[in-house]
Amino acid sequence: MEITEVRIFPKDSPDKKLRAYATVTFDNVFVVRNIKVIEGSTGLFIAMPSRKVKHPCPKCNFKNESKSKYCNMCAAQLPLIQRPVTPSDVNNLQSEHKDIAHPITQTFREYLQKTVLEAYEKQKTGTGMSASSSPSASPSPSTNSGFSGLAPETKF
Ligand SMILES: [Zn+2]
Repeated sequence: MEITEVRIFPKDSPDKKLRAYATVTFDNVFVVRNIKVIEGSTGLFIAMPSRKVKHPCPKCNFKNESKSKYCNMCAAQLPLIQRPVTPSDVNNLQSEHKDIAHPITQTFREYLQKTVLEAYEKQKTGTGMSASSSPSASPSPSTNSGFSGLAPETKF
């Protein structure tokens, strides 16, 4: 499977760790939105689109956010959920989120991450009208030098 398009949507959010959203097209026929570009302590990485895991109230069945201790509908106490000890830990954070779509092989995960991050970097450096990548290997047209290369001088 090939990634045929990556679009980057830079994000200015209070959450400084979230740098951008990416929309990725696979094989020109399948698109996944809201892939997140996140700045971690060890560098950039991507997070697949996810949804918050909700917990139904045992009394009224209202679906509460996993952070809630009490039901938002009937105020019943919710069953205790294992809470991450370090909130900044991304892996723990994932426990409250379930990926909606994600690669299942390590190889493709790396390929996807690399492609998205490359597109992100390209977009980041490409902003502003600075004279970016100009392949300046243009040979000046007016080089009418008499020295025209290696003349085949076969002298014996
Ligand atoms: Zn309830």
